[in-house]
Amino acid sequence: RQFIQADRAFLQRIRSSGVSTINQSSLRYVSGTSSKMPPPIFPIPDERANTVAVGGDKNGSHEGEKTSPQVQKIQKTSSDASASVHHQMSPQSPANTSPVVDGDKFDYDFVVIGGGSGGLAASKEASRLGAKVAVFDYVQPTPIGTKWGLGGTCVNVGCIPKKMMHQASLLGEAIEDAKSYGWELAGGGDKKHNWGAMVQSIQDFIHSLNWKYKVALRDVNVSYINSYAKLIDKNHIHAVNAKGKEVTVSAAKILIATGGRPKYPEIPGAKEYGITSDDIFSLQYPPGKTLCVGASYVSLECAGFLAGLGFDTTVMVRSILLRGFDQDMAERIGRAMEESHHVKFIRGAVPSKIEEIEPRQDGKAGRLRVTSTQNGKEIVEEYNTVLFAVGRDACTSTIGLEKAGVKVNPDSGKINAEYEQTNVPNIYAIGDVLDGRPELTPVAIQAGNKLARRLFAGSKVVYDYEMVPTTVFTPVEYGCIGLAEEVALKKYGKDNIEVYHGRYRPVTTRPIAGYGEEHCYAKLICNKLDDERVVGLHVLGPNAGEITQGFALGMRLGAKKRDFDDLTGIHPTDAENFVSLLITRSSGVDLSLPQCCG
Ligand code: FAD
Ligand code: NDP
Repeated sequence: RQFIQADRAFLQRIRSSGVSTINQSSLRYVSGTSSKMPPPIFPIPDERANTVAVGGDKNGSHEGEKTSPQVQKIQKTSSDASASVHHQMSPQSPANTSPVVDGDKFDYDFVVIGGGSGGLAASKEASRLGAKVAVFDYVQPTPIGTKWGLGGTCVNVGCIPKKMMHQASLLGEAIEDAKSYGWELAGGGDKKHNWGAMVQSIQDFIHSLNWKYKVALRDVNVSYINSYAKLIDKNHIHAVNAKGKEVTVSAAKILIATGGRPKYPEIPGAKEYGITSDDIFSLQYPPGKTLCVGASYVSLECAGFLAGLGFDTTVMVRSILLRGFDQDMAERIGRAMEESHHVKFIRGAVPSKIEEIEPRQDGKAGRLRVTSTQNGKEIVEEYNTVLFAVGRDACTSTIGLEKAGVKVNPDSGKINAEYEQTNVPNIYAIGDVLDGRPELTPVAIQAGNKLARRLFAGSKVVYDYEMVPTTVFTPVEYGCIGLAEEVALKKYGKDNIEVYHGRYRPVTTRPIAGYGEEHCYAKLICNKLDDERVVGLHVLGPNAGEITQGFALGMRLGAKKRDFDDLTGIHPTDAENFVSLLITRSSGVDLSLPQCCG
């Protein structure tokens, strides 16, 4: 709006030239109930100029709006549901609720259980849209007593501290690279990492975020209640705080956003002597020689930064690396970690017993004896720290779901919900508690915001769980969107898939030091039946997260191989390798490393 006011004449010129400009209605914000309330940060999505009305109806807020030619094309040509931009609910959908505010009958219009990524997003958006909202958030300490503040897994014991430790480890490598560029360390000494100083900085940063989250809730008039909440029926919640103080509130609508917590294997010594990702980011002593049990996101990421920080690190793999991901890429990650970062892998093994040899003390890790079984044989090894990353349990078993009649999948313990609505119509669920959905922060946030707009602003836009981009922050990062190669082959048939791939030299980092270049790799998986639409994009290399985020938009818009070919690269970058992938898997041509600039 400021921009428009500042340069009306410029906009007028554009309009008269026939180029379409921002739809004014897309900038209209819905005002909240409080005079102190800031405007919502998002335009109301139904009113976005290019929102696609998939099966839209008269109530779909798209009357009179034109769908852009680009989007029309996608709707017409896409055989893949994932290529659509926005999904809209049918009028019969269960969560197609009107913006009802039942404040007279209940204490709150909307109570959210869980102040993590999803719960905070949904609660703030609901409040901005005029609902009376409360959030319950309470952290139960880990077996070794670690606890944290408001914000949930991502900010306290997940994405944020993980990315910071990943960065700390990359910086250690950058110091080595810097020497190739002429930098000298003062005194000619070698680099040395201080675990305590790193943990302190990270925890200080997290505490500042905890505070900001509280302020953000207060700013939009959301009541924050730091108590453990349980449903007592479909409209009532009972909660207890750390001092035993109890409160009961009623709500018209309830959102379950309680996330998950790490699992421990059921073996002797696991809880007594092991730690998990809930502990590692605030560990008061350097972990020393570490065994990471598990072979998925959490284990590989933790092993990656620990090795990068200089710790002797081993990953114990029960079956395969990164189940559910492209296995060609997973094996490349394993090789990169082994060869460039000296991470050891024990394959086909599970721990059976952890014993203490020497207890951990303040400032010092203990000594643990780990007995494991590998292919039927017993192996025994000593470690200072054992970090379990063997999956997560959804926090659904102790929150009274049965009292309200909310059903969970007995196998996963997770909540089944269509359009985030459970089988009990006024109870919703988002984030890591949802069955069959990706456990990722942006997924929880997007689903939470969209749900709040449906519940309190009459929106019909639902979150599309397809084509979710993600990145595994191993030392050489792995980013992907769409299908794994083996899944694409199965879905479309071997004859209908072409894979374009290539190795590349990273230019964004380390061109002189040469680190990691033997592992950098880009791959596009294309569906020949659909004019080589790209159904999977995979990249292993520095900053893969940044690269993947950019291309994710193209993928969601239905990009084909020729769109990548027609795209002009930005030189010199790593991402530009995707505009010049010429070698097909079917040609069998050997992938040698290019000399330099293509
Ligand atoms: P959470 O963020 O877990 O929040 C749930 C909250 O509810 C918690 O604060 C919990 O204490 C509270 N709670 C539970 N029960 C109750 C109750 N009965 N009463 C009151 N409060 C309760 N995702 C990414 O996208 N990128 C990453 O890089 C990434 N890295 C990760 C790294 C690690 C080590 C881990 C473990 C996860 C990572 N994730 C990442 C996943 C991401 O953190 C989660 O998907 C996301 O936090 C889920 O949000 P949520 O709102 O569902 O739950
Ligand atoms: P996952 O459930 O993805 O993986 C669990 C791993 O532990 C698998 O390798 C599994 O092996 C192994 N395992 C399970 N039980 C045992 C056992 N008893 N003994 C030995 N190994 C075992 O869990 P994660 O904790 O890694 O991740 C949870 C979720 O968090 C992810 O799905 C992801 O969505 C999110 N996350 C996202 C990140 C990101 O975006 N960068 C980073 C970290 C987490 P097997 O394959 O044999 O079953």
